[in-house]
Amino acid sequence: MREPVVERLRLFLIESPIRMARLQGVGDVKGTVKRVLLELTASDGTVGWGEAAPWEVFTGTAEGVFAALDIYLRPLVLRAPVRRVRALAARLDRALVGHPEAKVAIETALLDIVGRRSGLSVADLLGGRVRDAIPLSFSIADPDFGADLDRMRAMVPAGHTIFKVKTGVKPHREELANLEAMRAEFGDAIDLRVDYNQSLQPFGALKLLRDVDRFAPTFIEQPVPRSHLAAMAGFAAALDTPILADESCFDIRDLAEIVRMGAADAISVKIMKTGGLLKAQGLMAMADSAGLPGYGGTLWEGGIALAAGTQLIAATPGISLGCEFYMPHHVLTEDVLHERVPNRAGHVVVPDGAGLGITVDEASVRANSRILAER
Ligand SMILES: [Mg+2]
Repeated sequence: MREPVVERLRLFLIESPIRMARLQGVGDVKGTVKRVLLELTASDGTVGWGEAAPWEVFTGTAEGVFAALDIYLRPLVLRAPVRRVRALAARLDRALVGHPEAKVAIETALLDIVGRRSGLSVADLLGGRVRDAIPLSFSIADPDFGADLDRMRAMVPAGHTIFKVKTGVKPHREELANLEAMRAEFGDAIDLRVDYNQSLQPFGALKLLRDVDRFAPTFIEQPVPRSHLAAMAGFAAALDTPILADESCFDIRDLAEIVRMGAADAISVKIMKTGGLLKAQGLMAMADSAGLPGYGGTLWEGGIALAAGTQLIAATPGISLGCEFYMPHHVLTEDVLHERVPNRAGHVVVPDGAGLGITVDEASVRANSRILAER
């Protein structure tokens, strides 16, 4: 029997409404987020989906991803054997530098197809599950802190314990008062984390971070711009709170430098940074050997990308610090799936079922987002 090949590639550049404004240090978000959805159809009729969710201040642009997929990568994907995932990934890397979001969308759709054809989940294809549920972190990033505190009052009794506070966006004293208010109301029942999104400068940062250290967060994420690894190493040495690298750690080359310099105690793993689920597992192999746990970060990802991230974390032991896959249930008004990946008692539940374990609803894509381009 002939190996099935990719026969059709469809792309949707969409703009989805979100429920709340987000203050995020390097770039604020309000109203809508843009993403690219990709559908591949194999010659045996099996359909797989992938998603590219860039953020312009972090990785790239949705329009750039659309062009990368449509013009540069489409010719390599069409007629590629669906089971030869690594071989195609290597060809994509040779043909186009960067554009990790475009590449992960293709890999996700291929793994979805291979899983659906074989009755295996993507987690099975990545080595099998080591966990069935992932602790879910919600980000405290509303310009109105009172609104976030009200959300916490509803979420904590429902089982949510992890909250990541976006800092470096308001005056330092106000941010300390907010941390104080959260600890005063919820005590040690909550697992607080802090994320600066690169907003501090190395000069004077340690003094501010020492103030934050007092609230015993689980980690302080990316306090300074991505290239300031020496400053990160200084914070990691000086503070009790572990330092987590996000923008400083896109791929395995970044991680090698972080390990060499002792610039972080943990890393944020995002498939939009690594450019693939297999590459994310490779990154974690190095992190494991250096004793750095991983955290499942996101950009502005919807249901398809987060299903891929969920399958990855389910199969990757070292990503042990939970995930922040809260977009579908808390921020997006609609994530274009028949059923969202379930959340239960403050956890993302790894979906059963073949492939990504989700079903994309094209009617929902059309009804709930603005399609800016389709090919
Ligand atoms: Mg971050």
